[in-house]
Amino acid sequence: MGTLSKIWNGFLNIFGLRKKSKYVKNYLNEANMRSAIFMSVVIFVLEIWLVLRQTHKYVVPQLADPNNTLNWFETIFSNTSLYFLMMSFGAAMLWYSIQYINKKKSVKRMVIPIVFAGLSLILCCLLPLEFKLGTINFANPDQAKVIRSLFRLLFYVAVVLFDAGIIFSSIYRYRGGRRASISSIMVISLFALVCLMFGVMVSYGDFISSTVYQNVVVGVDKNGNDIIKNVIANDDKNKEIICFLMFTIYIGCLLIWNPMISIGILGTLFLGFYFALDGATSLGKKVFPEGDQLNYITFFISIAMVAVSIYNQRISEANKDEELEELATKDKITGLLSFEYFTLQVREKIAEYKIERGNSVYLFINITNFKVYNDQKGFKKGNEFLKTVGQIISDVFNENSLITRQSDDHFVVFTINLKVQDKIFEVARRVEEQDPEIKPSIKVGAAEVYDPREDPHYAVEKARYAYAELKRMPTTKLILFYDDKMHDNYLMNQYIVTHIDEAIKNGYLKAYYQPVVWSKGRTLCGVEALARWIDPKYGFLSPSKFIPVLENNQLIYKLDKEILRIVCTDIRHNMDKGLPVLPVSINFSRADFGVIDIVEVVNEIVEQYQVPHELLHVEITESALTNEVDLLKNTINRLHAKGFATWLDDFGSGYSSFNVLKDFDFDVLKLDMAFLVGFNGNEKAKALIKSVISLADQIGMKTLCEGVETDEQAKFLEEASCGRLQGYLYGKPLSYDELLEKIQNGEYNIADEKIC
Ligand code: C2E
Ligand code: MG
Ligand code: MG
Repeated sequence: MGTLSKIWNGFLNIFGLRKKSKYVKNYLNEANMRSAIFMSVVIFVLEIWLVLRQTHKYVVPQLADPNNTLNWFETIFSNTSLYFLMMSFGAAMLWYSIQYINKKKSVKRMVIPIVFAGLSLILCCLLPLEFKLGTINFANPDQAKVIRSLFRLLFYVAVVLFDAGIIFSSIYRYRGGRRASISSIMVISLFALVCLMFGVMVSYGDFISSTVYQNVVVGVDKNGNDIIKNVIANDDKNKEIICFLMFTIYIGCLLIWNPMISIGILGTLFLGFYFALDGATSLGKKVFPEGDQLNYITFFISIAMVAVSIYNQRISEANKDEELEELATKDKITGLLSFEYFTLQVREKIAEYKIERGNSVYLFINITNFKVYNDQKGFKKGNEFLKTVGQIISDVFNENSLITRQSDDHFVVFTINLKVQDKIFEVARRVEEQDPEIKPSIKVGAAEVYDPREDPHYAVEKARYAYAELKRMPTTKLILFYDDKMHDNYLMNQYIVTHIDEAIKNGYLKAYYQPVVWSKGRTLCGVEALARWIDPKYGFLSPSKFIPVLENNQLIYKLDKEILRIVCTDIRHNMDKGLPVLPVSINFSRADFGVIDIVEVVNEIVEQYQVPHELLHVEITESALTNEVDLLKNTINRLHAKGFATWLDDFGSGYSSFNVLKDFDFDVLKLDMAFLVGFNGNEKAKALIKSVISLADQIGMKTLCEGVETDEQAKFLEEASCGRLQGYLYGKPLSYDELLEKIQNGEYNIADEKIC
C-alpha cells in the first residue's frame, strides 16, 4: 500500500496534479512570461522578415504585372496581411510580457500592448476581404480547402480573443485587479492558441497546395487487375510542416504551468492535424505510411515529455526558492512578513498602486506591559503572545495591509489611511482581553506616506519617532501622528547623529563652566563642565537638544571623551601659564557604561595632559544606578583607587530609592534642582531638603544643591548645612575665556580650600 501510494504521489507530482502554493504558481507564471518574451521576439522578427520577403518576391512583381486582376491594396493584402497580423500580435505579447515581468506600473506600459493589440484587431476587421479574394471559401467542392478555410477563420477568432484578452488584462492589471495573475494565464493561453492556429493553418494550407497525388499501378492482383495506389507524386510535401512543429514546441514550453493541460492540448492538436492531413487526400488514402505514423507519435511523446521535464525542473526550482524565501521573508515567531521583506513589499505596493501623499500610513505598534508579561509567564508564552498579537493585527487590518514584526514586541503596519484610529482601538481592546490582569495594550506611532519615493525604512523610523514621543507624553492616547514639528526634531536628531564626528574634529563642541561655591563664604570652589555645540548651520545648541539623541544612539561616549579632553587641555594651559586652577566636575552618562571603560578613558586622557587627579570629579546621574549595579560599583571603586572623586548627580530626580545610597560610595550628593521648585513658603520642601542633607551627612557624603537662584534659597541651604551651591545666582555656565576674565576681574573669589 505504501509503495502504491508513493507511486501514485510520484505520478501526481510529475504531472503537476498537486495543489500548488501561490508562490509556486506565480513562479511558473513568471517563467512562462519570460518564455513568452523570447517567443514573441522571434515571432516579431520573423514576421518582419516575412513581410519584406513577400513584398520583394510577390507584391512588387504583381503590382508591375499588367495581367494582375487585383487592385494595389488587394495585392498587398493577399500577400502580407497574415504576416502583418502576426507582427502586431507578437509585438503586443512582447510588451505585455515585459511589463508583467517588470511589475512597475505606468500608463505608458499599459498603453503600448493595447496599441499593438488594437492594430491587430484593425487588421482582423479586414476579414471580409479574405472572402472576397477566396482565401476563405466554404463553398469549395474540395473538402481540404473547406478545412483550410475553417482553420483560417479559427485563426482570426483566436487573434480577436487574444487582442481582447490583452486589452482587458492590461487595464485590469494597471488598475490593480486582484486576479491579475489569472488574467495573464488567460493571455498566455490565448497567445498559445493563436500560435497553434497559425502553425496549423500555414502548415495545412501549404501541405494541401504543394502536394500532388497520383494513381500509380503497383502490381497485378490474382484476377489480373492492376493494383492502383494513390501516392504523392512530387517531393514538395510537408514543406512547411516545420512551421507547425515549431509552434507546437513553442506551446510545449509555454503551457508548462500545468503539464496535463499541455499534453491535452498537444494531443488534441496532433490528433486533429493527423486526421486533417489524412482527410486532405481526395481519395481518402492514408498520408502517413506506417513508419511515419510511428515517427509522428514518437514526436508527440517527445514534446509532451519535454513539457513534463521542463515543468518538473521548474517546480523543483520553485519549491527551493519558496523555501529560501520563506526563510528570508517570514518572521519565525509570528509567521508575519520579515521586516526586510516587508519593506520590499511596500515598495512594490507603492509602485503598483496609486499611492500618494497622505493616502497610506505606516504604523509602529508597541505592546505595552509586554516585559511584565514575558517575565511573569516565561519566554515560550511570551512568544505565543506575540503570535496572537500578530494575528489580531492581521485580523483587524484587512488583506491589503502589509504587516511585519520589526523586532521584539514592535509591529509595523503599512495600510490605507482610513479609520486607522478605530482599528487601533479595536486591536488595543482585543490585546487587553488576552490578559485582564497584566492588561497588555498597545501604543502606536503613525507616519503618513509623505512622498511615494521615500525609503520605507526611513518612513518607519518616523512612525517609531512618533511612538517615542507618545511614550514620553503623560497621556492615555493610543496613537500619535508624526507632524511637521516632529519632523524638524527628527531632522535635527539625524543631523546630530551624523555630524558628531565632524563637530569633534572641527571644534564645534565646547566645554562651558558653571561656578560652584562653598555655602559658607560663597567663595568659588570649583566648576562643572557642561557641553555646548556651536554649530555653523544651527548656531548655539543646548545639551537638551543633543545629549538625549547621542545617548539613545550610544554615541554619547564620543562627546564625554571630548569634553574631558577639552577640560584637561584648559587645566593644563592654566597650570602652565600660572593661572588659577579649579577642580572641574565632568558628566558621564549612563549610556557610557556599556560602551567604554570610563576609568581607563579618564586615566588615559588625564595622564596625557598630566592633570592632578584630585582636580577632576566624575559626575554620574542617579538614573544610571538602576541598571548594571555591579558594573557601576566596580567603576566607582576603581575611580576612587585612582584618586578621582565621584559625585552623584541629579539625586531626587528619578525613581531610585534612598536604599541605593548604601550600595555606592559616592563622595558628593548633588541635590537635583527639582527640590527647589516651589521652595517659597513650602515647609514640606524645606523639611525634605534638610533631611536629605542630614541623611547624606550621616552616611558620610558631602552635599551640593543645584539650581540655586535666590538669596533666600542660598541662606536656607547654608543653614541646612549644604556644603556647596551651584546655580544662576552664582553664574550661568560660561566659556573658558569668560570665566577666566571674571576670575581675573575679581568677580569671583577663589576659595583657599577647594577640596574637602
Ligand atoms: P546637569 O549635569 O544636572 O547640569 C546642570 C544643568 O542645570 C545645566 O544645564 C545647567 O545649565 C542648569 N542649571 C544650573 N544652574 C541652574 C539654575 O539656577 N536654574 C536653572 N533653571 N538651571 C540651572 P545644561 O547645561 O543645559 O545641561 C543639562 C544636562 O545635560 C546636564 O544636567 C547633564 O545631565 C547633561 N550634560 C551637560 N553636559 C554634559 C556632558 O558633557 N556629558 C554628559 N554626559 N552630559 C552632559
Ligand atoms: Mg551634572
Ligand atoms: Mg545635575
